[in-house]
Amino acid sequence: MDVERGWLAELMGFLRPDQVLTGAAARRGYDCDAYTVDRFPPVAIVLPESTAEVAEVVRWCNLRNVPFTARGAGTGLSGGSLPALGGIVISTKKLTQILEIDLPNRQMLAQTGIANKKLSDAVKAAGLHFAPDPSSQTVATLGGNIAENAGGPHTLKYGVTASHVVALTLVTPEGDVVQLGDRVPGGPGLDLAGLVIGSEGTLGIATEAWVTLTPLPNHVITALVAFGTVREATESVAEIIASGTIPAALEIMDRGILGALKAAFNLEYPVGTEALLLVECDGDSAELVKAEMATVDAICRSQNCLNLETAEDEVARQKLWTARKKGVGAMGRLAPSIVTHDGVIPRSKLPEMLDTVYEVASRHQIGVANIFHAGDGNLHPCFYFDDRDPDQVRRVVEAGEEIMRRCIELGGSITGEHGIGVEKLDLMGLMFSPADLEFQAQAKRIFNDGALCNPCKILPNQKSCVEHKSRWRGMAW
Ligand SMILES: Cc1cc2nc3c(=O)[nH]c(=O)nc-3n(C[C@H](O)[C@H](O)[C@H](O)COP(=O)(O)OP(=O)(O)OC[C@H]3O[C@@H](n4cnc5c(N)ncnc54)[C@H](O)[C@@H]3O)c2cc1C
Repeated sequence: MDVERGWLAELMGFLRPDQVLTGAAARRGYDCDAYTVDRFPPVAIVLPESTAEVAEVVRWCNLRNVPFTARGAGTGLSGGSLPALGGIVISTKKLTQILEIDLPNRQMLAQTGIANKKLSDAVKAAGLHFAPDPSSQTVATLGGNIAENAGGPHTLKYGVTASHVVALTLVTPEGDVVQLGDRVPGGPGLDLAGLVIGSEGTLGIATEAWVTLTPLPNHVITALVAFGTVREATESVAEIIASGTIPAALEIMDRGILGALKAAFNLEYPVGTEALLLVECDGDSAELVKAEMATVDAICRSQNCLNLETAEDEVARQKLWTARKKGVGAMGRLAPSIVTHDGVIPRSKLPEMLDTVYEVASRHQIGVANIFHAGDGNLHPCFYFDDRDPDQVRRVVEAGEEIMRRCIELGGSITGEHGIGVEKLDLMGLMFSPADLEFQAQAKRIFNDGALCNPCKILPNQKSCVEHKSRWRGMAW
């Protein structure tokens, strides 16, 4: 404790007292992200206000051999910002400025603690937006999106974060400040920005980023389609993609979500609905958008949909989005805790995979609801349970691992957009050989030779992490 008091005095030598949080409530608030099964408290949380301050904190951590973990809004779903070995959480909460908007070149420079949606709000009047739109976008930060290579409902058509970030300012794990990427395409040198995007904060802390801005479409049609079985909804998705039509969004919500919406908001959908499919088609040509929606309409009707409602004006369209936007929040009515899993499978395997999800959840006696970017083949089974009960936690973890193993068997992957974090460390060996993993570890060591920068994430069996694993889980009850 004396050592820790000494640390704090040193940190306050270059940060103001209100930039260093050490109270019990703060340490509790920063001991996990939205994956609440694993927890560990930091010694302190620091709130730097510039790249220079982030670099100074990181250099101090190196000097004192203190682990550090970057944190945006803490909406991550795999334990990425869990301070796995304690130490310091470096929050980007105060790095929220838009530094430059370059409309002619459709680019924007922003600090990475800004919430995703604020980027789009800032250029809406100019008819532009930042296309990656995770469903957490009102709070999730640009830095968190970069670290997780986040997707969202509309990234089916527009591409995930990596397609929209062209250059970065990175504080390296040693505390140097480097520029990666280039504002013009085809710049010289290795594509290190490409390596950092999606590396879950293990290769340094991004403090600023140049992002590209995408024109808002002139014509948008949204459809909400009710099906009597989940299989008909998932088969429609596979058929829509196979037809060559790429909607802007293709999202599924199942009966578990509909039950939560009823409990929380008293929302009702047509009698007999077991799944809703939300489809959005957009573009600059009204005829093309209408033609795409006609294809969707024909496919959904051939799959015996119960009801198909479309809307073109903004207010009516947003009403159709209600179930998608409020679905996860509504689950708070069902149980104290939610674990949202994230797998990917070839879209044609969605019907079979959903059957597996229900069977596994029922065998482990866990409540499950599904709300997911079906068009990407993403799968997000949301288990609802009580994380104060060790037996329920064990069943949730085992059921999740079973589902991930099935995703791999069906030719998919253990994550589409939520990352590995600590949640899926043990599953990496199912996807990669020891040689593959060692090659990734070598690449990581070029940036991060020690064990200080966001330790124990992505790659399994890191030194000093193995014996800590049971402690993270033990903190859940
Ligand atoms: C309701 C809900 C809906 C969601 N929907 C989606 C979705 O549609 N698509 C999707 O992809 N994800 C989704 N997510 C997951 C999550 O919102 C994303 O992963 C998001 O990008 C995390 O951003 P954050 O600011 O909360 O990051 P955090 O959770 O704080 O951190 C996530 C990771 O990023 C690292 N990190 C944070 N900032 C930086 C930085 N500046 N530099 C380097 N590393 C950093 C952290 O160390 C950690 O490893 C959802 C989550 C919730 C709770």
